[in-house]
Amino acid sequence: AKNQGRNRYAFYTSDLTVNAHQRLEMENDMRRGLERGEFILYYQPKVMCDGGKLNGAEALVRWNHPQQGLIEPDRFIPLAEDTGLIVDLGRSILHSACAQLAEWRDQGFLLPRVAINVSGTQLIGNQLVSDIRLALTEHGLTASQLELEITEDFVMNQNREAITLLDLFKSMGIHLSIDDFGTGYSSLAYLKELPLDTLKIDRSFVAGLPGNHHDAAISQTIIVLAHNLGMNVIAEGVETTAQRDILQAQGCDSIQGYLISPPLSASAFATTFLSRAPS
Ligand code: C2E
Ligand code: CA
Ligand code: CA
Ligand code: CA
Repeated sequence: AKNQGRNRYAFYTSDLTVNAHQRLEMENDMRRGLERGEFILYYQPKVMCDGGKLNGAEALVRWNHPQQGLIEPDRFIPLAEDTGLIVDLGRSILHSACAQLAEWRDQGFLLPRVAINVSGTQLIGNQLVSDIRLALTEHGLTASQLELEITEDFVMNQNREAITLLDLFKSMGIHLSIDDFGTGYSSLAYLKELPLDTLKIDRSFVAGLPGNHHDAAISQTIIVLAHNLGMNVIAEGVETTAQRDILQAQGCDSIQGYLISPPLSASAFATTFLSRAPS
């Protein structure tokens, strides 16, 4: 029976080999999981490149499936996006992250900011603004404690509505980052239109550092570009001290990656990275 279950879940991928019936089954399973609170957040630290001071954490979702154990997001986010379930899932993630930050605050732990990943589908509806307002109010957080990581694919469309929405987030004080920067099919034109705080260098460029001269040229260029536009820059997927050293020499502000820590459960994250604010 266990083996059967495993086969069934082999279909949680983004490939299109899944038939309509299977998709419906997965969708229902996900919906059930959402109701039962099976989607949980792991947290990965973001630290200053020089000195290593903690400046935030990225919340990364996992499906704690009763039969399958912990399922990675790449195996269910694509389907959640296709089916629109990402809207409900995203709302749940937003509330969990805010609840967690408030809980840590109440325990005397200081985490400056939590970042959540927001998919384009969530940004298209008008629901996100009120969801965010509600989550912040409910947990007594200020908007500056929340960061949204948005991918280029959404902003590159450069439609008026997208720009208006991001302007609104910005006016609320929410921190806005472009995730996976440099991997989308976008022009750079949108950078001057949007109120962005941070560019996140994709880990595909970090992977080749420090040896690959093309990757080094790209990371250096992104860092200079970000700074010249008044933005911060963070590199993701930093796994070695050699990668950190070259990024630091290039002027990168922050890093995230296995060198510091993999994503951790909330309790492991608190134990390892949070200390009580001096009273
Ligand atoms: P992402 O936003 O680019 O997240 C970074 C991914 O890189 C995470 O994978 C993280 O565990 C992994 N990673 C971190 N440090 C390193 C490193 O040093 N080396 C390597 N090789 N990998 C590293 P994860 O958690 O499996 O998430 C995968 C993707 O799923 C995310 O990519 C994001 O696009 C999506 N995702 C995760 N959580 C959410 C969520 O709450 N909402 C939405 N919409 N998407 C999410
Ligand atoms: Ca991200
Ligand atoms: Ca990324
Ligand atoms: Ca990614």
